[in-house]
Amino acid sequence: MTQRPNAVIGASVVIAGAILAIAAWVLVEMRQDALTRAQEAATNVSLLVERDTARNLEVYDLSLQAVIEGLEHPGVRNLPPELRRMVLFDRSATAKDMGSLLVLDEAGNVSIDSKSESPRRINLADRDYFTVHRDSSTVGLYVSHPFEPRLNGGGVSIALSRRLSHPDGSFAGVVVGTLRLNYFRNLFAGMHLGAGGSMALMLADGTMLMRRPYDAKVIGRSLIGTANYSRFTQATSGDFFGTAAIDGVERWYAFRHIGNFPLVLDVALATQDVYAEWHRRAWIIGSLIGVVDALILTLAALFAQQLKRRLAMETELRSLARTDGLTKLCNRRAFDEIIQTEWRRALRGDAPLSLLMIDVDHFKSFNDLYGHSAGDDALAAVARCIGENIRRPGDSAARYGGEEFAVVLADTGRDGAVRVAERIRAAVQALGRTHMASMHQLVTVSIGIACMTDRRFDALRVFVNAADGALYDAKGGGRNRVVCESDLAEAQDRVEAVNAHCIVAVIAPSSTSLAVVYGDYSARRDSSSLCAFPG
Ligand code: GH3
Ligand code: MG
Ligand code: MG
Repeated sequence: MTQRPNAVIGASVVIAGAILAIAAWVLVEMRQDALTRAQEAATNVSLLVERDTARNLEVYDLSLQAVIEGLEHPGVRNLPPELRRMVLFDRSATAKDMGSLLVLDEAGNVSIDSKSESPRRINLADRDYFTVHRDSSTVGLYVSHPFEPRLNGGGVSIALSRRLSHPDGSFAGVVVGTLRLNYFRNLFAGMHLGAGGSMALMLADGTMLMRRPYDAKVIGRSLIGTANYSRFTQATSGDFFGTAAIDGVERWYAFRHIGNFPLVLDVALATQDVYAEWHRRAWIIGSLIGVVDALILTLAALFAQQLKRRLAMETELRSLARTDGLTKLCNRRAFDEIIQTEWRRALRGDAPLSLLMIDVDHFKSFNDLYGHSAGDDALAAVARCIGENIRRPGDSAARYGGEEFAVVLADTGRDGAVRVAERIRAAVQALGRTHMASMHQLVTVSIGIACMTDRRFDALRVFVNAADGALYDAKGGGRNRVVCESDLAEAQDRVEAVNAHCIVAVIAPSSTSLAVVYGDYSARRDSSSLCAFPG
């Protein structure tokens, strides 16, 4: 388990993102599946209707051709009308939604009528299925524009017609069969296309013959110029997304031309219907994923918050374990670690290292005089002075024990250490805390310094003792002063060099003290023989 709150948040975001990505991928796949299913459905319906229509029209055309062949036979032509009708028209023309099969003479009059023994007196020379053959001999099977039949009624119909020719090839009339558009309406109605689905049957010239949803007004309307119709003319079959010119609904279109007939069929499913089920599932899955993701992120945020709190507490505890409660400086334990580290670093890098041992002067009598609580206040104030006067990142101050403090100055030689020590001493004095039992009448500190340069000390213990020794000398010299162990050693060396019975004065580098060595120095070498006077 990670210990970093940000890593917890990061991991949860990655997990939530991965879940979201997987869900998105599944939804995209489902959407594609929905479209594929719709495409297959539309294609299947269009194929079914095309086959059915082509088959029926073929049968109807065969009936027309049978009439033409029969009429070419002199025997049939000369049969009595009743018999001739039976020979010429088979029963296919009586199927539902089939109209009449008629033979029209070259003037457009009905000469033979499948529905009646005596042909109805009507002229159809103005119909397109008549004029087209009259004007051209090469039309073959013609599928007419929709019209309202003049015979029998029965609703809007189209006609299939073929030309009758005299033996010399001249126009002899037409044979025509009508088909009610109701046939297609019923056929279309039987297909499941969804609420917004549509189907349409058009002539190849763009004339609408039948459309579902049914609207009588669109029958006969030309679709030339519409985007969808131009797509229909570009291939014999195909599919595409398009918007209907008639109702403005976007649909998936599958279209195909019907056999060799000049007819085009399209089956279209509304985009809305295609994706309706997908939309419903996408909402459910999306909502569930959203809830799961929100849950993951919320739990991760809560966990990260707890972790942050715990880490903060641990940090605080660690810092408390290393901090002295009264003075807020490092405690003895922390100091031991710091001095060890800095000692090793100094040896490794051959860098100077200084240690200041600070002791409050006559503190026992301060306590006796002003009470322990005032003593504690004074210690805290002294600690503040120490803390405020060590400025570099490598410097550390600690409460060494009782009213003693220690300061470690990394990368600092004798001069720097004396400067810092003097600043501390002066700052404590400047506090101006009255201490009537002290010779200085104020709370003061004595400071002993040890400087490690050129590996002068072979062990940390010796180094610390040297600082202690200097402090002892500072006490002996009258307190409220700074003594550096290296100055003492130097002074001692000089005295030995003079080797004389005289008074030797050594001006210590400290700005405030003058050390004087009295008498026969060779006989009194101990450091207690050193006296110092402030200023
Ligand atoms: P010197 O100038 O020689 O250092 O004299 P001194 O009285 O300071 O010497 P000593 O080390 O004998 O006395 C230290 C005293 O510091 C003893 C104790 O009363 C006092 N002291 C140590 N720790 C604390 C503390 O946490 N609070 C208070 N108020 N006093 C303390
Ligand atoms: Mg002491
Ligand atoms: Mg003391």
